Amino acid sequence: MFEKILIANRGEVAVRIIRACKEMGVKTVAVYSTADAEALHATLADEAYCIGGPRASESYLNKNALLTVALESGASAIHPGYGFLSENADFARECREHGLVFIGPSPEIMDLMGDKDQARRTAKAAGVPIVPGCDLLESPEQAEEEARRIGCPVLVKARAGGGGRGIRKVLRPEDAPAAYEQAKAESEAAFGDGECYMEKFISPAHHIEVQILGDAYGNVFSLGERECSVQRRNQKLLEESPSPCPALTPEIREHMYECARNLAKSVGYQGLGTIEFLFSDAGEFWFMEMNTRLQVEHPITEFVTGIDLVKWQLRVAAGVELKDFRQEDIKISGHAIECRINAETPDFLPSAGDITMLHVPNGPWVRFDSALYVGCSVPPYYDSLLGKLIVYSRTREEAIRKMRSALGELVIDGVDYNADLQLDILSNPKFLAGNYHTNLMEHLYE
Ligand code: ADP
Ligand code: ADP
Ligand code: MG
Repeated sequence: MFEKILIANRGEVAVRIIRACKEMGVKTVAVYSTADAEALHATLADEAYCIGGPRASESYLNKNALLTVALESGASAIHPGYGFLSENADFARECREHGLVFIGPSPEIMDLMGDKDQARRTAKAAGVPIVPGCDLLESPEQAEEEARRIGCPVLVKARAGGGGRGIRKVLRPEDAPAAYEQAKAESEAAFGDGECYMEKFISPAHHIEVQILGDAYGNVFSLGERECSVQRRNQKLLEESPSPCPALTPEIREHMYECARNLAKSVGYQGLGTIEFLFSDAGEFWFMEMNTRLQVEHPITEFVTGIDLVKWQLRVAAGVELKDFRQEDIKISGHAIECRINAETPDFLPSAGDITMLHVPNGPWVRFDSALYVGCSVPPYYDSLLGKLIVYSRTREEAIRKMRSALGELVIDGVDYNADLQLDILSNPKFLAGNYHTNLMEHLYE
């Protein structure tokens, strides 16, 4: 196992990783921006270094500063968390060049799977169905032609996109050029890459994803699925495991797992990863993308499998072989739900400020992953995720009741947050019936 690692992230995920390291006897090095000098992750780590100004480009995306601190502090590996540099193959390459382990797949695999357009081809080659669409677009005119050929509605999608950004819906072919320009500009600004492709817009559909863990010896395991169809603007809000979708029969579920494992095996995938699918009520599914990193919603999988994903991610990165794992021993039991607690107003505007009072719900199988404490500040520069409330119960009904009770108890004073919206989702009839699609939020109050 590593003796010391650097965590190139902030917020709840940095805290989550530091906790896993402490339990495993791994020393931790935190980095922070000037806006995060008092942040929890910097306090909890064994060492902490300021690496730059508040903007992510000055600090958490500052590759040179991260590599320098890692080398100077004697860390042997870097955990990128999610977001920031977690899917940046160039950064993984630079880590390797400096003799540092990047905790994630190799840069070659990230090239294959991180670029969404390339990932479609990789999936197809592995025999996994992909959404009908086209390769990279070369011009606005070509966008219109392809929209006509594929058949509207379609989505223009940035190959580098993430967190729901770089996606535009096209209802009529003549609108495709403008949508293409918008997606391109948005992705260029957010990810420094404006290349886009197009996919048939599948609706109504479920977003169902499969958790994967692979080691350096070609062993790949699937760890159940997560239903992530509760989304606003293509961003997840609430996730549950297993999926309650009635069309996901045991046979289709098994086939989806097999496709996910085959795809991961076909590229020699090492580490934690998630294969995202769109799923129709007719039982068809299509590969959408792979996230080559730890995912925000990983705790629900931890609850239903009893497996600590971050610890295993660290172990496989250190070269441990998954020889005591057997696919048939990975059993999914009970039901877990996660609500993302975002700092935002009821109109979805970001909210920042100092936390003046905090009451965190508790009780059996209630987990709150966050970096909040009374007196901490929520800076305006980063992601709006304040924390994640996760509950686990024997049945879905019990889990929903537990989540309602926990949300009702949660108090965060100093910023606006979305607990009321989450309670509305938990009482929506379609949600309660367990058969809802990615458009649920558009019809939440109907
Ligand atoms: P998950 O798939 O784990 O649910 P999200 O899509 O919600 O993750 O993204 C988690 C965080 O990572 C968000 O802050 C999001 O903006 C960021 N993110 C996702 N993909 C990328 C990317 N390709 N580049 C940079 N940041 C990203
Ligand atoms: P990101 O990298 O931002 O997570 P994804 O490719 O995973 O991008 O898409 C984000 C969300 O957008 C999906 O979870 C899904 O709800 C929706 N989406 C993406 N592609 C399609 C599609 N072809 N048809 C319908 N919905 C889609
Ligand atoms: Mg996605």
